[in-house]
Amino acid sequence: MSSFRVPIAENDPVKDFRAGSPERDALNQELERRKQQVNDIPLLIGEQRVTNEERFDVVAPHDHRHVLARVSKANTDDIDRAVKVAVEAQRQWLDLPWEQRAAVFSKAAELLTERYRPAINATTILGQSKTVHQAEVDAACELIDFLRYNVSYLQDIYQHQPRSTSNVWNRCEYRGLEGFVYAITPFNFTSIAINIAAAPALMGCAVLWKPSDYAALSSWVGMEILLEAGLPPGVINFIPGDPVQVTEQVLQHEQFAGLHFTGSTEVFRSLWAQVGRQVHNYRNYPRLVGETGGKGFVFAHQSCDRQSLINQLIRGAFEYQGQKCSAASRAYIPRGVWQEIKDQLITKTSELSIGDPCDFKNFMGALISDRAYQKVTSYLDDAKTSDEVQVVIGGNSDNSRGYFVDPTILLVNNPNHRLLREEIFGPVLSVYVYDEQDIDRTVELCDSASPYALTGAIFANDRQAIDKLTRALRYTAGNFYINDKPTGAIIGHQPFGGSRASGTNDKAGSYLNLTRWMSTRTIKENLLPLTDYRYPYMG
Ligand code: NAD
Repeated sequence: MSSFRVPIAENDPVKDFRAGSPERDALNQELERRKQQVNDIPLLIGEQRVTNEERFDVVAPHDHRHVLARVSKANTDDIDRAVKVAVEAQRQWLDLPWEQRAAVFSKAAELLTERYRPAINATTILGQSKTVHQAEVDAACELIDFLRYNVSYLQDIYQHQPRSTSNVWNRCEYRGLEGFVYAITPFNFTSIAINIAAAPALMGCAVLWKPSDYAALSSWVGMEILLEAGLPPGVINFIPGDPVQVTEQVLQHEQFAGLHFTGSTEVFRSLWAQVGRQVHNYRNYPRLVGETGGKGFVFAHQSCDRQSLINQLIRGAFEYQGQKCSAASRAYIPRGVWQEIKDQLITKTSELSIGDPCDFKNFMGALISDRAYQKVTSYLDDAKTSDEVQVVIGGNSDNSRGYFVDPTILLVNNPNHRLLREEIFGPVLSVYVYDEQDIDRTVELCDSASPYALTGAIFANDRQAIDKLTRALRYTAGNFYINDKPTGAIIGHQPFGGSRASGTNDKAGSYLNLTRWMSTRTIKENLLPLTDYRYPYMG
């Protein structure tokens, strides 16, 4: 026996997919192969792959008549069985030495670096309409990073031990949560979805994973990678299905021990309320971890670099069609700066190409679903008729083949307008132009206008301004950027999450998140026998 050290976590380098590169050729082959087939995605309960008659389709958002996969829906028997299997599987899983658990996830990371890279990227491009770069930084790199860093954080956590004295040895045993963790995952990041199921499992929990309908294809690839890496049957059970029905049933089980959620604020609030109503039924107080919506801001100061502001606004607002929780969704810009940058911002935005992400010339793909399309276009319709809003560029959309919305910039005169408060989750940037002398009031508006507090960025070169804005916006964002776009957090570098309506801020991809999936047992061992029950003062 020995005290082992895990491999040092390194971030996976982002491949650039230039024409003629081997990674591009491999990806193209995989895209072609996947386009020709309709995958049948089963449930996974223990060792059993279950195919049910009742299914739903995964379609390509940029070509919504193209069915990519048919996914079996979990029924009530499946869910009860999955709970039973998970609870049983956890016993053996916990008995495995931690380094054996760690090895499974380390191996999954390495399988992704080459072998599964084309598959995870291709399914994310086709199923979620990400461009090759957006798929690569998410589905390949960020997922590899999650897996590698979490293994190294686990080692760090386990090394934390209490003090002991010469005759008393104190130890902490970091047990996985007793029962099972319920993982509910979003459509917009393949890496986040797979990590939500994988992180509690790494810590010794058993998991029921309900993937997003829209990302079920890439989520299933993730499941297969974990199995190939040696994840024992029953540790993660894959149960796609009707979100409300599956969730209601899962949350009725007394062994429910934790919720690992990423998705919208309203859904997380409703889940919290459901758990609260049933708290008397559970054997343990469940851990509730939810990373939810955002309304990322960019606050520019008159000392900022104009070019950087323009380019970062474009990337921050429009990459992945604005469907990042961290997207730059509102910008506060001094009048003088706005006058200087406006024309270039319009020109550059008008150059953004939008279409099928399998065509690598495109900068943007389609929105994920008809529902998303209807929601975003209703904001645009309102904007076009409001006398408080001026369409600077964009505003058009077309859903005849895919759910396409043009990158849009809106000038909003009312700082409390819903465009500056609500999460739109599309390629829409709302700009509020302020007078330089009103900066203090505008900073307050930036802090108070929206209920969210996920990401935000300031652009300034004046050190006094940087200092002042950083302090004034202390609680406005859990991830705060200086002279950078508010998107693109990297595992191991910028732990991610926000508070207020944006979540429990447990920082996915950091040791903080992992500590939520363990329940510590403290062990005190007396090394010498007690020779007398009486205390000295009694004599
Ligand atoms: P969503 O809330 O619609 O769905 C998320 C998951 O919840 C899906 O699996 C869905 O099937 C399930 N779900 C939906 N309704 C449910 C219900 N009533 N009961 C139980 N489960 C239900 O979110 P989405 O559209 O997949 O993802 C986009 C949202 O996620 C945005 O609000 C975005 O800001 C947020 N997000 C946040 C972060 C973060 O780190 N803070 C990261 C990614 C996405």
